[in-house]
Amino acid sequence: MPLIVFHEKILTVIGARPQFIKASLVSRAIVRMPSLQEVLVHTGQHFEANMSAVFFSELGMQPPTYNLGIHGGGHGEMTGRMLIEIERVLQTEKPDAVLVYGDTNSTLAGALAAAKLQIPVAHVEAGLRSFNMAMPEEINRILTDRISHWLFTPTDAAKSHLENEGASPNRIAAVGDVMYDVALHYGALVDAEGRILGQLNLKPRSYVLATVHRAENTDDPKRLAAVVAALKIVATQCPVVWPLHPRTRAILDRSSQLENLSRSIHLIDPVGYLEMVQLEKFAAVVATDSGGVQKEAFFYRVPCVTLRNETEWVELVEASWNHLAPQFLQKVSVQQCCK
Ligand code: UDP
Repeated sequence: MPLIVFHEKILTVIGARPQFIKASLVSRAIVRMPSLQEVLVHTGQHFEANMSAVFFSELGMQPPTYNLGIHGGGHGEMTGRMLIEIERVLQTEKPDAVLVYGDTNSTLAGALAAAKLQIPVAHVEAGLRSFNMAMPEEINRILTDRISHWLFTPTDAAKSHLENEGASPNRIAAVGDVMYDVALHYGALVDAEGRILGQLNLKPRSYVLATVHRAENTDDPKRLAAVVAALKIVATQCPVVWPLHPRTRAILDRSSQLENLSRSIHLIDPVGYLEMVQLEKFAAVVATDSGGVQKEAFFYRVPCVTLRNETEWVELVEASWNHLAPQFLQKVSVQQCCK
């Protein structure tokens, strides 16, 4: 175990939906430790109410101390603007450590700004690798791990990756998956009687839940068309509900696919975490390119088809719980699971 010094002030940088969810539980634990004070910085990467504010209110989080309001633009522009603003906050707050989660531009900007100021960085979800450098998330993960002082790994595979890359064992703490803690906590609060299933007229275990937001799918018209075509086929067999990420909605809208698609698929806005947990827990199958959603499918013992060529969560594939669908559902027939 690395030496975890009881720093007085932790500055947490978050900015995207999965980070709010993870931080909700960790921040609650920090509040309970009198020796620690947390300053929460929201970069603004996700800013729509249903991608951000809903999680703060639903998961009982304190509002962020700083909201930098940075979103949009290319990766370089977004990350660069975050770097500038986070550095300013760090110079004002002078924290003893900076805490970052996952693999977004907010993660990298927080880690880089802190490391350059010689402030030690703690990375939650360290060591995950897809080995696909075309993914912006993979670049963010590798760079963040390289400059982090504490590497909190969720899985054995993540720990091995860091060891293989030469990270000192003193820096690695195999703490397990914070998403699992969150899923256990909130999963117990959600049953089939909740609102969303009724609103959508869905019966437990009789629908497919889909989410699609990775650039590798949304930004490649051929791949997106293949996903859409596959989900439409599935929808002829059983209902498909698809909470649309804002980027995916914008792309489908620009290519005039929304109206046609909404005839066969329940296209809904992003939902809050508790509604999402309900949709996941009672789905027959989950089809997703999300890292978090493929794990939650497993936590709730729902079969999952991952709409990607590879995944960082290799254990779920090895256990045959999760199936990669490089040919987009041609290999794994979702409708077979949805009788
Ligand atoms: N999620 C949610 N509402 C939605 C879609 C997802 O609350 O409409 C939750 C989901 O349960 C998971 C997290 O958001 O905990 C995953 O976020 P996302 O798919 O955006 O990112 P990734 O996990 O791929 O980094």
